[in-house]
Amino acid sequence: MGEALSLKADWLLPVTGPPIKNGELQIAGGRISALSSVEKIKSSSGTVVIPGLINLHSHLDYSEAPFLKNAPLFDWIERLVATTRQWSREDFERSAAKGAAEAILSGTTFLVDSSYTGQSALAMHRVGLKGIVGLELFGVDATSAAPVFSHWQKRMEELEQELQRLQKATGSESSWSTDDKPIELTISPHSLYTVSPELFRLAVNWAKDRKKFVLTHLAESPQERAWTETGHNRLDSYLRTVLPGPAEEAAQRADLIKNISWKGRGLSPVESLAAEGCIGDRLIAAHCVHLGADDLGILHQAGAAIAHCPRSNRNLENGRAPLEQFLYRELKTGLGTDSLASTESLSMLDEAKALVQVLTEAGIFARDEAQQLALRLITIDAARAAGADDRIGSLAPGKLADLVVLESTYEDPKLKEALMQDGDRVLDGLFNGAFRVRDVYVEGRALVKNGILENPVQKVAG
Ligand SMILES: [Zn+2]
Repeated sequence: MGEALSLKADWLLPVTGPPIKNGELQIAGGRISALSSVEKIKSSSGTVVIPGLINLHSHLDYSEAPFLKNAPLFDWIERLVATTRQWSREDFERSAAKGAAEAILSGTTFLVDSSYTGQSALAMHRVGLKGIVGLELFGVDATSAAPVFSHWQKRMEELEQELQRLQKATGSESSWSTDDKPIELTISPHSLYTVSPELFRLAVNWAKDRKKFVLTHLAESPQERAWTETGHNRLDSYLRTVLPGPAEEAAQRADLIKNISWKGRGLSPVESLAAEGCIGDRLIAAHCVHLGADDLGILHQAGAAIAHCPRSNRNLENGRAPLEQFLYRELKTGLGTDSLASTESLSMLDEAKALVQVLTEAGIFARDEAQQLALRLITIDAARAAGADDRIGSLAPGKLADLVVLESTYEDPKLKEALMQDGDRVLDGLFNGAFRVRDVYVEGRALVKNGILENPVQKVAG
């Protein structure tokens, strides 16, 4: 149980309410108990408190994979597969640990991660991060959907046991008192072009029975849309490159790829998934860039959520997702970074900054509107998409004390004073490098202090 604590800052940005100048935030039992404005603090400390940031789409497993920019998605993914296929379990463990540390040091407290190996979940636990981790599922051969799914279930059981062992070994100190499932393990069928309809249905039914989320990549590239609508060669050649198996069975594999039933149905990727009954209110679909006319209506009606990844979409030449339409249709939406193999950092403030740039350059929003929106998309809106807005995503009494203390990077006291004058300047400062992450709290416990990882869980583990 976290101790009672009081934090003072020049500003509190609750996100769901107006900024509070000379703010004081009270924490008791791991939750926020009160927010108030106190009398003018003698001299400006240059600090701002914001909610813990939420990353709606990541792959911590690939944090040490080479970053490849300006490569079309399927060239990129072939290279990613070629590199990481050589990795040992220890390589993935080290890579996920690097990603988890980078995430929390940049102010993220909750991640929705798709994990090839499951190592993301263990790495998140070790630094005290919370979230939803989907163990990835692959299999394009419809005839082997049942055994492939059984194999996945076995891997999932092993992962659950490993996470439980780790939680037990790190003692009661490591288990969050107010949130009994800090890391929810679930399923992540990778995409339409890597999972057969039969296997996708098994995944969705498994999640439905357990009231769990389904994490997938959807309508990410123009090639994917062309493939489901008319059958596009680039995806076939990609599958021929990455599908494992002996050389003498290449002809069989080519036959299998030729007959994948998602292909050339005249449907968009979203319509294809909907036709299989695979879109529901617990689907978190990453990207959603290449959409047919009715696709947002389908997603909205089902109550599905979208993880918008502006930097990854740009870097892999997939174009810009129609965020303004997601908002207009009131779709549950948050921002995600994707992996360090396709983006520059795991910082949600960096992702939000890139979004503000895209939205203002395209003339879609005025700068201050874009900034307010971007902040919501990495806090309360992302929390709603992850079904956690009753617990996290804003500074409000009763919410978990997951929060970030930012500190001004300005050395000059006059500049600092000017920055902290009004809430609009503070908000602007979040997006132009005027602040650095100083402390990160999860349920009232400091996991990052003065920019350094505390690592309480590992300490207990010895
Ligand atoms: Zn991804």
